[in-house]
Amino acid sequence: MFAAAPPPRPHLPHSWAETLRRYAARLLDVVLPPACALCGDSGAPLCPACCAQFFSASALGARCTCCADPLPPNLATAPAPPLGMPGTGASVVALCTQCQQRRPDYAQTVIACEYALPLDQLVLQLKFGQQLAYARLMAQQLRDAILRQPDYRLPELLCPVPLGPRRLVERGYNQALEIARPLARQLGIALTPRLLVRVRETAPQSLVTASARQHNLAGAFAVSAAEQVQGRHVGVVDDVMTSGTTLQEIAATLRRYGASRVSNLVFARTPPH
Ligand SMILES: [Zn+2]
Ligand SMILES: [Zn+2]
Repeated sequence: MFAAAPPPRPHLPHSWAETLRRYAARLLDVVLPPACALCGDSGAPLCPACCAQFFSASALGARCTCCADPLPPNLATAPAPPLGMPGTGASVVALCTQCQQRRPDYAQTVIACEYALPLDQLVLQLKFGQQLAYARLMAQQLRDAILRQPDYRLPELLCPVPLGPRRLVERGYNQALEIARPLARQLGIALTPRLLVRVRETAPQSLVTASARQHNLAGAFAVSAAEQVQGRHVGVVDDVMTSGTTLQEIAATLRRYGASRVSNLVFARTPPH
């Protein structure tokens, strides 16, 4: 006697497997962009041509060691050597006129690229378009830029520039932390996401005149665990550096709490006016 054939399954719009497959595909889209985020070429999330054009040492040119502004030809030293391990080469410190006149509280700034078209789209999409997958691409480029620095000793811990609580609630995430997380992993450095805190809300720096920026941020930051920074080299991670006032206020705060050295690790630097 033959067993009766099982009754046909009721037709559902999507089976569990299909739902799962679609979910996995969407997740992969988020994790792995299928084409170059800058030019749309298929094959890599950032294609080799775009990497060479926007992220190479020659694309950045000679920069001030301290604030990463472009150096005029008379102050520029030899171009950075190819990708290698940091802290092994000869010490090269080249300072712009402003940093020569008044050294900021941070010792060094490493950037991955200039904040200009089309790179600003990566930042804007991460910040306002919820494209969190871009943070990993940005961290990779920043890591490469860091490892290209011949004289750079890696920080002992990383922390992101904090957002104020109101903006954190509005956005749902801190883009600086999204970059700092994969960067810390790739460099093997401890990440302390809540080390720096904003003790009061400030107006966005972009809405404040240049002369009022420092005042706007005075006393805005504090360190939540002083023992973590005492005598240590702290790396501060951000997406964009504009005037540098925020990073200066943070570096001054960290130094006040006993940090021996502060360096800025920033994805993009706006060109000087
Ligand atoms: Zn490309
Ligand atoms: Zn400088």
